[in-house]
Amino acid sequence: MSLIVQKYGGTSVANPERINAVADRVKRFVDKGHKVVVVVSAMSGETNKLLQFINDVNKKPDPRESDVVLSTGEQVTIGLTALAIQARGVKAKSYTGAQVKILTDNAHSKARIINIGTENIRKDLDNGYVLVIAGFQGADEQGNITTLGRGGSDTTAVAIAAALGADECQIYTDVNGIYTTDPRVVSNARKLKSITFEEMLEMASLGSKVLQIRSVEFAGKYKVNLRVLSSFEEDGEGTIITYEESHKMEDPIISGIAFNRDEAKVTVESIPDKPGIAYQILGPIAEQNIDVDMIIQNIGHDGLNDFTFTVNKTELDKTIEILEKMKDHLGAKTIIGDSNIAKLSLVGVGMKSHVGVASKMFRTLSEEGINISTISTSEIKISILIEEKSLDAAVQSLHKAFNLDQ
Ligand code: ASP
Ligand code: MG
Repeated sequence: MSLIVQKYGGTSVANPERINAVADRVKRFVDKGHKVVVVVSAMSGETNKLLQFINDVNKKPDPRESDVVLSTGEQVTIGLTALAIQARGVKAKSYTGAQVKILTDNAHSKARIINIGTENIRKDLDNGYVLVIAGFQGADEQGNITTLGRGGSDTTAVAIAAALGADECQIYTDVNGIYTTDPRVVSNARKLKSITFEEMLEMASLGSKVLQIRSVEFAGKYKVNLRVLSSFEEDGEGTIITYEESHKMEDPIISGIAFNRDEAKVTVESIPDKPGIAYQILGPIAEQNIDVDMIIQNIGHDGLNDFTFTVNKTELDKTIEILEKMKDHLGAKTIIGDSNIAKLSLVGVGMKSHVGVASKMFRTLSEEGINISTISTSEIKISILIEEKSLDAAVQSLHKAFNLDQ
């Protein structure tokens, strides 16, 4: 007997029929003697619909009230899922985040989990209940409802698995695992049997939208056994996220190509080359809770530097606004925003022990006539920014060049 956390995303609970399929699966696991905790998202499209409603009544919504609205999608699906499980003769009980006592900070719409009270849920588990917990939500110390950021149900599931010491956390979604790249862009993309935690972190953070990045960080920190699999298949192995340190020689050098169309590039041109400048630029942006991704400072010329970074497209205007206000104080010449870019990354732990990956990547792109505007690297990835319109061609040519289809 093991304790399994199963998370079902929006498409897996999209309607009563899909919820019945979830309940059937849960019952199969219960019948095998497992204890099951289910974490659900809202029905697909629901959270977007709620966001639209909010926007229709208030253009500058109070974050506290927005979270009150946004968290309701999951309240519908926990109740329905619990009812569907009960209809199969299995004891089940729904829990909102606050009822579990998922304590978060008060950063509405992107709250972080501080603690999970497991006393209540553990008692119910011991009494033979399947628990159905609302993803994406918690409550702060004052009891205000908070949400964890889009896609946050993954993080709820992993956090619950960590708190309960579950044997496995299964993320059920509409794809049957993690692919070498998005099959909508490369038709012969291949499903990976396993991927290391480090690679998964890069793949998730770089925009392979299967898992919320924070859930992967959480899984790594608490060594949660994570598996991604499809709720549309009866049985399938999915992709398991592994934690072994050593990379075997025969393993592929590159595991996948991640890309992201959601980022925009910001360049602060000609700022004085002196201590504290990076902090002066990024400090006020961080204060506004804007996440910064790639950061590149160009080599100085004439005592001046160019400073480039990326933010989410939705936060570009706000970022530019902040920087324009500080421009004179920074001594910067111009602030440039560019949202017609895409980020592409080659990811693979095998890079650590292989040379020539970058040159092969750049050669491939040059043969395609694709211009690279920005490059950054880490031990296990090479990321570039290119024009958004060349993204598909870039991904396709690199997938082929690195034999990812084999
Ligand atoms: N319902 C939320 C969203 O759409 C959370 C989730 O699905 O994980 O972002
Ligand atoms: Mg999701």
